[in-house]
Amino acid sequence: MTEQKYDKEGLCPACGSIDLSDSHPQYDRNICWFETTCLDCNTKFDAKYFMIFTDNEILKGERK
Ligand SMILES: [Zn+2]
Repeated sequence: MTEQKYDKEGLCPACGSIDLSDSHPQYDRNICWFETTCLDCNTKFDAKYFMIFTDNEILKGERK
């Protein structure tokens, strides 16, 4: 198993590279994550974010 050396946004946790490729985000309640692959060392990891509500915006043309 790859050792985790870095725990910062935008850095590969194994080698610290910023050369990452991420997928579409996935959601579960107020957590979202991107399954990410490091293009330098090929480590796959989930980059997780905590989502904070800002506001509701009614979309024009969507009401009936
Ligand atoms: Zn890496």
